[in-house]
Amino acid sequence: MHRDPSVSRYAAGQLSPARRASDLARLADRRYDVVVIGGGVTGVGAALDAASRGLSVALLEAHDLASGTSSRSSKLIHGGLRYLEQLEFGLVHEALRERGLLAGRLAPHLVRPVPILVPLATSPGPLAPAARAWHRAYYGAGVALYDLFAGVTGESTRGMPAHRHLSRTSARRLFPSLREDVLTGAIRYYDGQVDDARYVATLARTAASLGAVILPSAKVVGLIRDAREVTGVRAVDQETGAEFEVSARTVVAATGVWSDDISALLGEGRPRLRVRASKGVHLVLPRSAINGDAGLILRTPTSVLFVLPWGGHWIVGTTDTDWSLDRDHPAASARDITYLLEQVNRWLDRQVSTSDIEGVYAGLRPLLVGEARPGRSPHSMDEHTSKLSREHAVVEPMLGLMLVAGGKYTTYRVMAADVIDRAARRLGPDVPASHTDQLPLLGADGYRPLWSARADVARRHGLPVGVLEHLLERYGSLTMELLELIGADPSLGRPVDGAPEYLAAEIVYAASHEGALHLEDTLTRRTRISIETSHRGTDSARQAAALMGRVLGWDDAAQRREVDNYLARVAAERQSQLMPDDLSADAARLGAPDARHPAAAGA
Ligand SMILES: Cc1cc2nc3c(=O)[nH]c(=O)nc-3n(C[C@H](O)[C@H](O)[C@H](O)COP(=O)(O)OP(=O)(O)OC[C@H]3O[C@@H](n4cnc5c(N)ncnc54)[C@H](O)[C@@H]3O)c2cc1C
Repeated sequence: MHRDPSVSRYAAGQLSPARRASDLARLADRRYDVVVIGGGVTGVGAALDAASRGLSVALLEAHDLASGTSSRSSKLIHGGLRYLEQLEFGLVHEALRERGLLAGRLAPHLVRPVPILVPLATSPGPLAPAARAWHRAYYGAGVALYDLFAGVTGESTRGMPAHRHLSRTSARRLFPSLREDVLTGAIRYYDGQVDDARYVATLARTAASLGAVILPSAKVVGLIRDAREVTGVRAVDQETGAEFEVSARTVVAATGVWSDDISALLGEGRPRLRVRASKGVHLVLPRSAINGDAGLILRTPTSVLFVLPWGGHWIVGTTDTDWSLDRDHPAASARDITYLLEQVNRWLDRQVSTSDIEGVYAGLRPLLVGEARPGRSPHSMDEHTSKLSREHAVVEPMLGLMLVAGGKYTTYRVMAADVIDRAARRLGPDVPASHTDQLPLLGADGYRPLWSARADVARRHGLPVGVLEHLLERYGSLTMELLELIGADPSLGRPVDGAPEYLAAEIVYAASHEGALHLEDTLTRRTRISIETSHRGTDSARQAAALMGRVLGWDDAAQRREVDNYLARVAAERQSQLMPDDLSADAARLGAPDARHPAAAGA
């Protein structure tokens, strides 16, 4: 749309500090077709959907891209096997279709198959053989239906291999840490796995490559109204504290668990999209703590628990409890951690304990509350209806303002298309239909040939092939940009202090190309150093601040401030994880300052 055709898509998708400054300066010059509030997967997906339809778009994110729920999920692109038990066939089918699209066409460099075992437990008593047969038949039918919905059959895999039944011996061969005495066998199926925060950053760059303004650290604090219409937003630049306005023909709020705050800006008496926050905590353990070559899906008294391989680590989660405290920094308590350890230990022959834990993270599910009006599709709910489930809703509480919330990561593209369809009704009949199902993300084009040639490419750049694989799985064909950085400064090809899985070039690139503005953005979201190392990134902080500082112009004092903020954040998180309950954990977590503009941070 508004992209200079002489500039390559890669260059146009660069979220550099210069791009942020020029975008900020240009915001006042025009009236945007769509202003999106919220830089999680839903908002960024909406920005891409709108930009790819040729609309002018500006997205404002209060903190960092994906800093809300979209960096704190279980990182599965899945249909949700457990929703089959709740007979949510439509939801599962839709999500599995999305899974196939993402893993196959849109982002094969970011979404990969992960094998998961459904362990079949022993039953006591004389009816054990019958119970065993029933369990296998019941779970087997569920997994078969799952594959069928996904279009995974003998001939067609849609990016995911088909499921298989395993005997106890085969299950333990694949997962030696599973306790023999509780196991009769297993079923292995596949789902998609993604680095959720990296996916959002890539999605944002894809939107930017089509001309969308993507503005992190810009918090919307007011809606501009003209009589009974919303005609723009008032926002604060969280880096400087400066206020500014953006004029819009439509405003889309994709603010997850903050949705009620946007409704509140309309004033009393307005219909709302009511969203409840439910906290989910995950633990990160070293791969050596558990011996297995697949993930596990385990039943808990209230829900299910995943144990998922994650590079050199395991992710174990999640809990599911109401949360009404600070939404910017949801805190995990000692109770959450004990619960997760107890649940996973029921299945393991070598028990894991708090001393194994490398990282902990907590996220908030945006769940819609209220009663659904019977017979209405959740995709076209009006302002009086909502539905408590993993489904989503689009509402228009005032002309020109659309709210979208609920759903799950996997179906972000559907949510985005639905809300932009709604905006298009206002913008006129010429707006084309969504075609993001045909639009690969940056880094997807050329990824597969590069993967095939990885040994050769690695040799040419003097890097071990494992390093090139690491880069390709995080950047796809954008890897070439990192190789250029390393070519210009070979010291960037060296590992990051305290985090040997990552290269110094990735820290620089986060600031120069991926919109990272603070140390925390790079250590927690562009990389996962904050949850993948037992020092939680503190040993990498100084070097990372120096590397980012080169791009962002930080002098010694600015670097020190970033490091101090980061260390204080880690200390507060550690403290909160020792606290017995949510209230005390929340109080401990709030002890750390926000890296973003202190005057604006509390706004
Ligand atoms: C523990 C857990 C596990 C999950 N696991 C999975 C999974 O494995 N697979 C799956 O498909 N789904 C999963 N989900 C669900 C999924 O993560 C969420 O549905 C999804 O990330 C929500 O994205 P969002 O963009 O709607 O919200 P968010 O990611 O929270 O984005 C909202 C954004 O709005 C911004 N914002 C708020 N107010 C303002 C303002 N005034 N101005 C500017 N910006 C503002 C916030 O800073 C935030 O970045 C999980 C959720 C949780 C909590």
